[in-house]
Amino acid sequence: MTHKTNRKKEIEPLVLPAGDKLLLHSCCAPCSGDVMNELARSGIDYTILFYNPNIHPRKEYDLRKEENMRYAEKLGVPFVDLDYDKDNWFTRIKGFEDEPERGHRCTLCFDMRFERTALYGHEHGFSTICSTLGTSRWKDFNQINGSGERAAARYPDMVYWTHNWRKGGGSQRMLDVSKEEEFYQQEYCGCVYSLRDTNKHRMDQGRPPIRHGVKYYGKPETDYEAQAMAEKAQQAGDTGQQDR
Ligand code: SF4
Repeated sequence: MTHKTNRKKEIEPLVLPAGDKLLLHSCCAPCSGDVMNELARSGIDYTILFYNPNIHPRKEYDLRKEENMRYAEKLGVPFVDLDYDKDNWFTRIKGFEDEPERGHRCTLCFDMRFERTALYGHEHGFSTICSTLGTSRWKDFNQINGSGERAAARYPDMVYWTHNWRKGGGSQRMLDVSKEEEFYQQEYCGCVYSLRDTNKHRMDQGRPPIRHGVKYYGKPETDYEAQAMAEKAQQAGDTGQQDR
């Protein structure tokens, strides 16, 4: 009985909390793939907005954006590409560089991205905004919703949709679509500080630092980590021979 009820909920179409079109802030293709599919399944008119000046370095930013654009084009969804105004992002988070992930630096980062989303929504007639950021299990859903709601509250009649995209099988579907589409698989949240902290963690485990643009969902992995370790060992061996 419970199973049937849950199943029924899963297949019900999604309903917007306000208005008839949605502005969806997207952080990357893997987080937005299933969300986009679900919105299409529900017949919701939506536009993707890509505004992520936090992503560092530029190569990683381009990789994430291009993957997202590729899937939007495939589904025929309008894609708004806003500025990579990274200088403003660095100004905004100044003083909080050493905060841990999910700390205050992240609140500032979400605030900045959602404020820009809400402004664009206000200027272009969207009364509901939302984000794919909450799809990742690494994120604090309440922290994201708080930033989204604060940004929407700047404009009359604008609503931030707090829908939990992980529920109802969303987390699994996110992986499934990422594999089907062979999306680029990023290995850190996005900013230079998350890259720093992730690389430190990897070094503590004896692993090589992240390389950009090498991992894709569903593609056989070139084991670049093993390759890097072998190269390192080889170099150490060469140096040792020279020393002798
Ligand atoms: S860790 Fe992620 S959410 Fe936090 S500041 Fe960096 S990019 Fe933004």
